[in-house]
Amino acid sequence: MSQDRASGTQDALVVLERVNKHFGPLHVLRDVDLTVRRGEVVVVIGPSGSGKSTLCRTINRLEPIDSGRITIDGVPLPAEGKALARLRADVGMVFQSFNLFAHKTVLENVTLGPVKAKRASRKEAQEQAMALLERVGVANQAGKMPAQLSGGQQQRVAIARALAMRPKVMLFDEPTSALDPEMINEVLDVMTALAHEGMTMVVVTHEMGFARRAADRVVFMDGGLIVEEADPETFFTAPRSERAQDFLSKIL
Ligand code: ADP
Ligand code: MG
Repeated sequence: MSQDRASGTQDALVVLERVNKHFGPLHVLRDVDLTVRRGEVVVVIGPSGSGKSTLCRTINRLEPIDSGRITIDGVPLPAEGKALARLRADVGMVFQSFNLFAHKTVLENVTLGPVKAKRASRKEAQEQAMALLERVGVANQAGKMPAQLSGGQQQRVAIARALAMRPKVMLFDEPTSALDPEMINEVLDVMTALAHEGMTMVVVTHEMGFARRAADRVVFMDGGLIVEEADPETFFTAPRSERAQDFLSKIL
């Protein structure tokens, strides 16, 4: 077991091996290899169209892959039936557009998943939901409808909703890109706290401050390839590839 730990296999939670994905003639993921360890925060950056969203969507099987292998905590995709349901619960996802159920209250948005999955009684689900809403700072909004909340509040509810399923890993796809600037930090603060609490996270973002603060590793994608991986300090101060240097020169 200590051997496993030393080699990293024991702690590998999400593993992608030579993953390929096409949309028609477009080769969107090219031989992608990526291992995310338990408790690790991986920030994925790269130009628009480089395959970042597709990468996230393959991990929770919103998109099937053409070749390669993906395993989540040892379970290979595509899982079916019960294994797939469990897997979906294991992988929480937060999108750019908040995707809350518009006709449900904030509290219902957070209780629905656990109740439906029979993970909790309604009462347990409500207690857990209130604790999660407290944690993301919107407990006082529990009885409101999503449209009555600001974008930043809605996105924090979306995070609470994902956490309610007790996922093993959280995927964030540009969670602050649709927010007004003054609301970005309230969402990033929640994500930073989650990271510090040891949540395993894959975060696609253009927020380089967050990447520097919270990431254990930065993955740079371009044209469907993982071009470069490094710790944030190394990546931001001394990117190796010309493509990463070029990208950083445009956004920093
Ligand atoms: P990113 O998130 O890095 O901007 P995406 O993963 O969304 O990139 O997209 C990668 C490429 O795949 C882009 O060229 C995009 O237009 C294309 N693409 C994404 N989703 C689809 C789809 N469902 N059908 C066809 N092409 C798609
Ligand atoms: Mg995207």
